[in-house]
Amino acid sequence: MSSMTFEQLELDPILVRALTDMGYAKPTTIQSQVIPEAMSGRDIMASAPTGTGKTAAFLLPICQHLLDFPRRNAGPARILILTPTRELAIQIGEDAKKIARHTPLRVEVITGGVHESQHLPALTKTTDIVVATPGRLLQYIEEESFDCRDIEMLVLDEADRMLDMGFIKEVDRIAAEARWRRQTMLFSATLEGHGLMKFAADLLKDPVEVSAEPPRSERKKINQWVHMADNPEHKFALLLNLLRQPDVTRSIIFVKTRERLMELASRLQQEGLHNAWLRGEMEQEKRNEALSRFRIGRVNILVATDVASRGIDLPQVSHVINYDMPRTADVYVHRIGRTGRAGQKGTAISLIEAHDMPLLVKVEKYIEEPLKRRFIEGLRPQHKEAKVASRKKKDGERSSKKKVAPVKKEKVRLRDTKAKGKPKWATEKSAADKANKSGRKPAAKDNNQ
Ligand code: AMP
Repeated sequence: MSSMTFEQLELDPILVRALTDMGYAKPTTIQSQVIPEAMSGRDIMASAPTGTGKTAAFLLPICQHLLDFPRRNAGPARILILTPTRELAIQIGEDAKKIARHTPLRVEVITGGVHESQHLPALTKTTDIVVATPGRLLQYIEEESFDCRDIEMLVLDEADRMLDMGFIKEVDRIAAEARWRRQTMLFSATLEGHGLMKFAADLLKDPVEVSAEPPRSERKKINQWVHMADNPEHKFALLLNLLRQPDVTRSIIFVKTRERLMELASRLQQEGLHNAWLRGEMEQEKRNEALSRFRIGRVNILVATDVASRGIDLPQVSHVINYDMPRTADVYVHRIGRTGRAGQKGTAISLIEAHDMPLLVKVEKYIEEPLKRRFIEGLRPQHKEAKVASRKKKDGERSSKKKVAPVKKEKVRLRDTKAKGKPKWATEKSAADKANKSGRKPAAKDNNQ
């Protein structure tokens, strides 16, 4: 948290009152950096992962602007917020309604996956803020049922993710339609990559760049470690053991494909571990139902593909468990960001098989710290940790980098890797072994539109 107050940011008292209702006592770092610049009318380009308070960082200057320049006539939206996923759109819509609750401002959400009739208010009634996913919004624009001419501010939230999901054309088109806007704000988990920088350069005018590396106090609440698994059956045994620990009160388990998701969800169910699951290409109603079962605590385990790894705010997640490692290190960081939010403690545990080692090394480099190895008595791995070949160093060349992932040097004898003395879970395998192999092909695109 910064040392500023919301009053010092010159926000209208009716907004500050809403923030108090929401339990926000002080602005977060990103909020105190973005809000004054945004209120001065500058374009914003901010690197802000979820969990930093980025949503209010753009919603507050938006609401302040709408209060400062109240509309004179009925008409379409003046603010457009684009987000990659439906969940995120719904979430931001809810936050906007909370922040605007003491104001007359009207907020609507437009996403795919719901019947068009639900969007009638957004399309036909006076609306101030529209939060939308690009696909459905563009459809309405093309049908000429949504009018962008009154848009004064455009927000691109999770821009990196929108690009990853292939929305660049849609977003470009929408931005062109909203060309009378006066201000654009782009938020992204990272500001890296040629694609993103070009996208930003095309859409933003002389932006203020805010790279709010959240301070340690806001970032470092996540305790992370890994368990080594010999094979899929061992991994499942580790998972069961973890989920039955008393401190594992609410967890999200990430898997890589929807097939793996369904398999794991039903195996857990068979073990009496009730869960909800979340993946792409799910009817909106089912999706909302799964989320709310988890939110209100009817179940305490959510099994999810990466669709759930960004954007959704699920309070009090005690543990994030990577049952399958993600494809890249930055997705790892997004996943673990589901726990330890807004100053609470959180734990992220990754279950690692030999084939995950190269990625583990990448993650450790990315987060600049080695992940602790932990063991569970009775479920210790039989195999030695696989080593990842590193670049050969010339004689005398000394690495300037911090060493990560210290690997204990122990002799590996052939018989250690054979079946001798294998624990019970290891002999049970085979079926799940096969299932895992088929699940190892690249994930089908888990598109969320
Ligand atoms: P976000 O990064 O926008 O997804 O926000 C992450 C979490 O922090 C959400 O649960 C917000 O409700 C919460 N939050 C945002 N701003 C503040 C604040 N100033 N004080 C306390 N909590 C906040």
